[in-house]
Amino acid sequence: MPTLTIDGKQVTVEPGTTVIQAAEKLGIFVPRYCYHPGLTIAGNCRICLVEVEKAPKLQIACNTPCADGMVVHTQSSKVNQGRASVLEFLLINHPLDCPVCDQSGECDLQNFYMQYGLYDARFQEQKQKKPKAVPLGPTVMLDAERCVLCSRCTRFTDEITRTGELGIFNRGDKAEVGLYPGKTLDNKYSGNVVDICPVGALTDRDFRFKARVWYLSSAPSICTGCSQGCNIDVHYVIDRPHLAEGARIMRLKPRYNPDVNKWWMCDEGRYGYKFVDENRIRQVSHRGQAVSWEDAYSSLAASLARFKSDGRLNEIGILPSAQQTNEELFLVRKLFKEGLGIKNCDIQVPSPAGTSDGFLIKPDKNPNTMGAALIGFPGASKPLKSTNGSSASGHIFDKALSGEIRALWVFGHDLVKLFGEEKVKALAASLELFVFQGSNDNGTARYAHWVLPSAVFAENDGTFVNVSGWVQRIKPCFAPLADSLPDAQVLLELARRIGISLSFKSAEEVFNALAAEMPAFGGLTYERIGLQGARVHQKEPAAR
Ligand code: SF4
Ligand code: SF4
Repeated sequence: MPTLTIDGKQVTVEPGTTVIQAAEKLGIFVPRYCYHPGLTIAGNCRICLVEVEKAPKLQIACNTPCADGMVVHTQSSKVNQGRASVLEFLLINHPLDCPVCDQSGECDLQNFYMQYGLYDARFQEQKQKKPKAVPLGPTVMLDAERCVLCSRCTRFTDEITRTGELGIFNRGDKAEVGLYPGKTLDNKYSGNVVDICPVGALTDRDFRFKARVWYLSSAPSICTGCSQGCNIDVHYVIDRPHLAEGARIMRLKPRYNPDVNKWWMCDEGRYGYKFVDENRIRQVSHRGQAVSWEDAYSSLAASLARFKSDGRLNEIGILPSAQQTNEELFLVRKLFKEGLGIKNCDIQVPSPAGTSDGFLIKPDKNPNTMGAALIGFPGASKPLKSTNGSSASGHIFDKALSGEIRALWVFGHDLVKLFGEEKVKALAASLELFVFQGSNDNGTARYAHWVLPSAVFAENDGTFVNVSGWVQRIKPCFAPLADSLPDAQVLLELARRIGISLSFKSAEEVFNALAAEMPAFGGLTYERIGLQGARVHQKEPAAR
């Protein structure tokens, strides 16, 4: 294993490690355009120049293997002069677009010019003209004049998606990125080329001109689009509603996690955030009339208590959801199953057919199926095969249809979509109590007697367990919309009114109780989960 010295610090690395990787190990950042740790080495942008003692000229750190005894300088005046010259070449034909460029504020041409450039322009000739604002597909826009020909995007489509839509055409100062004839950039991961483009050449059609990046706040979170649980950063604005008609989330960006999604996320997840601000349920309502949470709590607590005192708890059905957090599901269990003793409480709904690929996208479109199964809702991992409720006898929905169940509490599921409008309409007419607790309007919300608005992932605190058993954390970015509340808060208040002692003050306290009780989560804390997640100890529910 070679030991080398970089900027006076010694480091020992695996054979084959490059100087840029060794520097990173020491916390020394070397500028880069073409180098990306998830792609093969191209070595074409030359901005990562470093000085290696005894080498005749500056070397590129991305493609220089470490050797024993090597002495490297990343900040010498020779290095800085070399980088300034590289920048001067890269910027010769670059347009003066910064004031109207979406990348402005997060552009490595701007950043490295401020760090290593700061020269006076000497180029007095006409700049090359190239195509601008060219849609490459449904998600990405190209401005070829801004491109520095780093080839990250072409390597991404060659090496990661293997769809090969993009290439670099022509030579010299006429060279430009573009689509191969007959191709469109419409693969399932196309948005990632915008993330890895170090400049403003590839911009996101969904995000373009919605907000300047310096107005964005950012919070680490988890994509709820499928059971892969890709790590993301939520970029949002809260006090500038004029920017996009009150929308708060501006975009989602993948966050690096070596065990889950590396640097990437799929387009379905990336652009699937609109439900956070659109079609939300804003008010608590009873049979179409807006009511207060206070009215809902007292009426629902009284109804549940009445079923209990009448000895009719077997006439109550609860359908939680694998969209809920571990903390919410634990409270559903504590309140309904253990507190009240309701037996008909499980995630018994057909699994919506989802697509999968060999990469990130999973067919299960719920973020927390494994968590739900581990917390005691086995129906989550054994969903009904058929969407026809009548063919699944013995399940909660069928019991409700047959009149065996007289009170139904549904978390998030759209029964109309799953079982058809006629059945849900008939159910609503026959049930004594029909509650829908969820974030977005749907057919079920229109038929339910009570509608309770839930917070969405960006307004909520808690954890999910992904398909591989990683417990991962979501954090609230902003307050729940209008009247909506996190399910946990509603469940705790109901428990208090029914007289069931659940005195948790935060999602973290609920998680600590869950970890103390559920062997799969034993020893885990929010601190241990951190930003990169922690594994559950088993993927199957323990025999209890
Ligand atoms: S479009 Fe962006 S990622 Fe692609 S080669 Fe140009 S600068 Fe690099
Ligand atoms: S693969 Fe699944 S979790 Fe990852 S971004 Fe896509 S939908 Fe979200």
